[in-house]
Amino acid sequence: MSAALSVLHDVFGYQSFRGPQAAIVEHVAAGGDALVLMPTGGGKSLCYQVPAIVRQRAGQGVAIVVSPLIALMHDQVGALHEAGVDAAFLNSSLSYDQAQQVEWQLQSGQLTLLYAAPERLVTPRFLGLLDDLHAQGQLSLFAIDEAHCVSQWGHDFRPEYRALSVLHERYAGVPRIALTATADDLTRADIVERLHLEQARQFVSSFDRPNIRYTIVEKKDVSNQLLRFIQNEHADEAGVVYCQSRRRVEEIAQILQQAGINALPYHAGFPAEVRQQHQDRFLREDGVVMVATIAFGMGIDKPDVRFVAHVDMPKNIEGYYQETGRAGRDGLPAHAWMAYGLSDVVNQRRMIDEGNAEEEFKVVLRGKLDALLSLAEATDCRRVRLLSYFGETYGAAPDAAGPPQGSRGPLGGQRGHEVPSVGATCGNCDNCLQPPQVWDGTDAARKLLSTIYRVHEMSQLTFGAGHIMDVLRGKDTDKVRQFLHDKISTFGIGKEYSEPQLRGVMRQLLATGALGLHKVTSENSGHVFDTLCLTPGSRAVLRGEQSVQLRATTAAPRSRTSRRGSQPNAAAANLGPDAQARFINLKAWRSEVAKSHNLPAYVIFQDATLAAIAEQCPQSLEALGHISGIGSKKLDAYGSEVLRVVAASAH
Ligand code: ADP
Ligand code: ZN
Repeated sequence: MSAALSVLHDVFGYQSFRGPQAAIVEHVAAGGDALVLMPTGGGKSLCYQVPAIVRQRAGQGVAIVVSPLIALMHDQVGALHEAGVDAAFLNSSLSYDQAQQVEWQLQSGQLTLLYAAPERLVTPRFLGLLDDLHAQGQLSLFAIDEAHCVSQWGHDFRPEYRALSVLHERYAGVPRIALTATADDLTRADIVERLHLEQARQFVSSFDRPNIRYTIVEKKDVSNQLLRFIQNEHADEAGVVYCQSRRRVEEIAQILQQAGINALPYHAGFPAEVRQQHQDRFLREDGVVMVATIAFGMGIDKPDVRFVAHVDMPKNIEGYYQETGRAGRDGLPAHAWMAYGLSDVVNQRRMIDEGNAEEEFKVVLRGKLDALLSLAEATDCRRVRLLSYFGETYGAAPDAAGPPQGSRGPLGGQRGHEVPSVGATCGNCDNCLQPPQVWDGTDAARKLLSTIYRVHEMSQLTFGAGHIMDVLRGKDTDKVRQFLHDKISTFGIGKEYSEPQLRGVMRQLLATGALGLHKVTSENSGHVFDTLCLTPGSRAVLRGEQSVQLRATTAAPRSRTSRRGSQPNAAAANLGPDAQARFINLKAWRSEVAKSHNLPAYVIFQDATLAAIAEQCPQSLEALGHISGIGSKKLDAYGSEVLRVVAASAH
């Protein structure tokens, strides 16, 4: 183990391994196969980079890293170069000459790690090169990143990944490590089968992301809510805003830009150059907010994304968790914020109903949507619910060998319907930080459902939410008079409820399936609209057997500006004024270096490293070398410059 630890210290400048990293590194460096399931930001890269360096130093040759993300190989290899590791990549972005150069480096034993796209790896030419290396005992390791791409159950199935089974057959004896952040059992079993990892040891981490704060707010005027959230809590910080449609992306990006926020739009409708350019700016500039559809984000490993906001609700918890997981990879405080409203419930239900999936599959989709809706409606700890959806009990450390087989449902998420451990709190979600006021909406729900029933009984028609509320609240409208709905027994029996309260009741009834939607086409305009109808689930509520607990419409969220003051950065939040000034100067220096190396700033030094330098104010290279994130190569390359910046800021 000492070889691995010294690589961790010298090359990466880190003090200790995190969580299961030590066990994984030891196992793989010794030649074992491994399947690693770790959440985003857990530290997967070191799990293969450290063994690769250890094995190369022991004379065992080069490690091949399979990665589907061509756009990111450049930055990953750049980061390794910064740490003094010989690495290269082979993919379609290289010219013929450049590719030949890399092949030559590979053949002549000059590389410790080679990143390759899967389609490149399985070409006869490349396999020929690997055969030669293998014959000479110079193939140290295969790392298969984003291993869920091999499975069609995963969300980014890549047929090229299927061909990777060749590695097992052709290069027996070369250890293989497959890594993914996708947790569900079906995908995991598929990875094992497709990549022949039956003998591999499985390392399953907790999927908790303790530094991410979860907040779900009721949607009112979402662009203003978002604007306030960014301005009050994340001014000048990098973030991603997810929207459901391209049109919405452009609209929200424009609103943010007009408010002076450095926001960029991103969706699949833009030409490739524009997407690339916006992605580069997001990675390289400080504090860019990307407003995007889910087309954006796969494999973005920018560590200092401080918030992920959803202005529309995603389809399921898997998607929500993956998207929010892009925040705070550096372990510093980060925020997952979502606005959710009645329209989200209606839209998502409609998308499933109108989609062309088989009915059987639609049942699964609805189940997954329901689990997300109950997360959104929850008045107890969000984290407890999220983890329980993934089959994990909050606070209970997972077994290193993984949970017992069959502990999760067939689609990984089915356990979400279980009641999570009662009363557990995480202290870092909206419901834990500010327990919501709850009111008993059972009576309102019963009155609402009986109104829907009576109105239908009388008119043999279904009606939309607005009209039902008017009847319930006893309003005198044209429509009420036209249909004589002021004559039914429930007219006006819900006077005491406000419209927002009734909307909340409807949202929750829809979310829990106690209320259904029925599509109606207007005879006049041909316009299709949603009306409300009873469902088999309505019965229990009508009979008073099921209570309906609602979050009292929350007051405008308290601004946290005062607490954080004008501090510009999560990493620097606890620095005094002098250190703050050093931090700002260090960032300015870093940004120059990053530009001249054509790399994102965090590849040079991460924010947390700069903050530690600013705080400790080292006077010597020796003192600087003890700071986390500064390996010996970076100390050589930048040490004296950093000391100069620190000294200059002192005056
Ligand atoms: P993943 O690929 O699992 O999402 P990464 O490998 O990108 O995660 O690591 C996430 C962040 O954590 C990176 O910024 C990395 O430098 C940092 N990190 C990983 N392991 C350690 C460690 N042992 N000590 C300190 N920082 C670490
Ligand atoms: Zn909580």
